[in-house]
Amino acid sequence: MHKDATQEEINHVIAEVQKLGFKADVSRGESITIIGVIGDERNIPFHQLSILPGVKETRMIETPYKLISREYNADHATNRIIHAGEVEIGGKTPVYIAGPCAIESKAQLFRIAEEVKKAGAHILRGGIFKPRSSAHSFQGLGAQGDSEAREALTWLRDAGRMFEMPTITEIRGETKVELIAEYVDILQIGARNMYDQDLLGVVARQGKPVLYKRHFGASVEEFLSFSEYLAVEGNKDIILCERGVLPTGKGKSFTRYTLDLAAVPAIQEETYLPVIVDPSHATGRRDLVYSMSCSAMAAGASGLAIEVHYNPAESWVDAAQAITADELKNIIDTCNRLHALAVENRKKAFNKPGR
Ligand code: PEP
Ligand code: MN
Repeated sequence: MHKDATQEEINHVIAEVQKLGFKADVSRGESITIIGVIGDERNIPFHQLSILPGVKETRMIETPYKLISREYNADHATNRIIHAGEVEIGGKTPVYIAGPCAIESKAQLFRIAEEVKKAGAHILRGGIFKPRSSAHSFQGLGAQGDSEAREALTWLRDAGRMFEMPTITEIRGETKVELIAEYVDILQIGARNMYDQDLLGVVARQGKPVLYKRHFGASVEEFLSFSEYLAVEGNKDIILCERGVLPTGKGKSFTRYTLDLAAVPAIQEETYLPVIVDPSHATGRRDLVYSMSCSAMAAGASGLAIEVHYNPAESWVDAAQAITADELKNIIDTCNRLHALAVENRKKAFNKPGR
């Protein structure tokens, strides 16, 4: 829209877009407003829209990820800050998500919640529906039945309330979306489900922030393109999470996945959404979590997601990568300082405020 377009003109364009059978998405910046036209792009009558009062120009955004792109954002340099309770994700300071891989019992969850809070974590995680490689492994308490799922979800909600942390858990399938959304603050889509566009749609429509993990075989472009399935539902509270891609070559890789840290600043160039890193699943090794956490901060990540257990080796799931709350505290203390340094000097290096 023109800089001086009136609200009436903006409303008129939105109404016309909707009349044509498209959805309208409004991106309002300090000085300009951009109206996104969502639908089958083959049928968008660009010329017809371009002559409406107040319209400056109409054009196609060429990337497959349009709504989440900086190009589309009316304030190119502005990053999105996502709110979960009192916590800001993508703001000035890094955010730490911590907790067990899987919730094992009420006592286990509450003990870990208390410890990670003391260590400086902001958001409490705990898996209730676990994606597992073997059908014969523990699938999470939620898989045992609806009442067990509700019970575990209640513990997670109550532990979050007691220790003042918003909560997050993974949604593995469409049938459980509404149930889980009743209890938790942030909905996680795991790496294995990155490509499930039907699940993405249902999750986005809950209107809660979504933590969206990159599939271990996905390119950055695919990752961003599929994020768009969340955004087209009107939900741009998307936290992108890099968690490693499949290692290449013959022989032993020494890590569970290969953490693609260059993806962090590369993604930040493309989108205004916050990017966090999961060093636990990326490495699969507790002895590497500290180093990869520091590296993620140096790369400019907005936060970390880390698996914690008071008795790491005894964790029911992902025991090899769990760390203690003391180790988490050391990571958080170091990473807070690294984040400040990296972000401050990066601005100087690129002269791009806000990125
Ligand atoms: C998880 O965070 O619990 C998890 C299973 O991670 P990912 O989807 O990245 O494997
Ligand atoms: Mn895990």
